[in-house]
Amino acid sequence: AKSDDESRFRFFEPEMQARAQERRQLVADLRLAVVRNEFELHYQPLVDLAQNRVIAFEALVRWRHPVRGLVPPDAFIRLAEETGLIEPIGKWILFKACADAVGWLPDTKVAVNLSAVQFAKGDLAATVAAALEGAGLTPGRLELEITESLLLDEDDATLAMLRRLHDYGVSISMDDFGIGYSSLSYISKYPFDKVKIDRSFIAAGEGKSGAAIIRAIVELCRSLGIPTTAEGIETRRQLEQVVSLGCSEGQGYFFAPPRPLADIPPMLGGPQWP
Ligand code: C2E
Ligand code: CA
Ligand code: CA
Ligand code: CA
Repeated sequence: AKSDDESRFRFFEPEMQARAQERRQLVADLRLAVVRNEFELHYQPLVDLAQNRVIAFEALVRWRHPVRGLVPPDAFIRLAEETGLIEPIGKWILFKACADAVGWLPDTKVAVNLSAVQFAKGDLAATVAAALEGAGLTPGRLELEITESLLLDEDDATLAMLRRLHDYGVSISMDDFGIGYSSLSYISKYPFDKVKIDRSFIAAGEGKSGAAIIRAIVELCRSLGIPTTAEGIETRRQLEQVVSLGCSEGQGYFFAPPRPLADIPPMLGGPQWP
């Protein structure tokens, strides 16, 4: 008689092979996508909650796959990091975002997400400077968003690079704050200009525990002189709550979803949301 292990193996093997094949195909497609330039940036507004005014747009990458259609970043960024393809893709994102932002009102910033891999390879500061100079954008108009995963190994080189970018005049934002590890020590150690509170807390905010966490983050950041952004605001109630808890900026479907570049100009003048 077959052992349990053997039958389990037989059951899973075809599925695993299919998955490996799917991954190989996706990697091959991703390599082609870099050559064919199949990526697009969509932009979502960041709103100053006191002035009810758009102060920045976050660039969010999409992949226009010839067969699959528009592929969201969660479906390919990890793969791009594992294969090293994030290097050319990340460079393209930086250059494109800076070039796009030149056409906006002069005080409107552009926020770009960086992968930890982009810190490890190549000279990130040189790439950032080239993107800004190439576009003719001042460093003060660029915000770089990083997540805690970058800071996990307490690397001196990472700290030095963040300081270099910060001294150059670029803003550094801590993204998805609150869902990682030992977050609290990081925000005083690194040169953050902004902390973005992860949207899971905004969604939970209508209960007491979400509100308590948002309040604690806002208070901590305030004592360090760092403004906070509430991510993922979907309802007026959530907006009112994060305003009352002291968040200075907001972002989310309540204001606008990420949209192609062509849809931005109407949003520059001021708020259209009720
Ligand atoms: P993120 O940086 O936290 O970006 C915010 C994500 O939340 C975006 O998803 C956005 O569409 C979504 N979002 C915004 N408002 C709301 C809301 O009100 N409700 C809900 N449920 N979601 C909302 P997206 O564009 O699919 O991006 C997912 C993640 O992929 C990003 O999370 C970021 O970690 C990564 N990513 C996106 N673009 C880039 C990029 O250019 N480079 C890198 N390295 N990563 C990127
Ligand atoms: Ca982000
Ligand atoms: Ca985020
Ligand atoms: Ca996220």
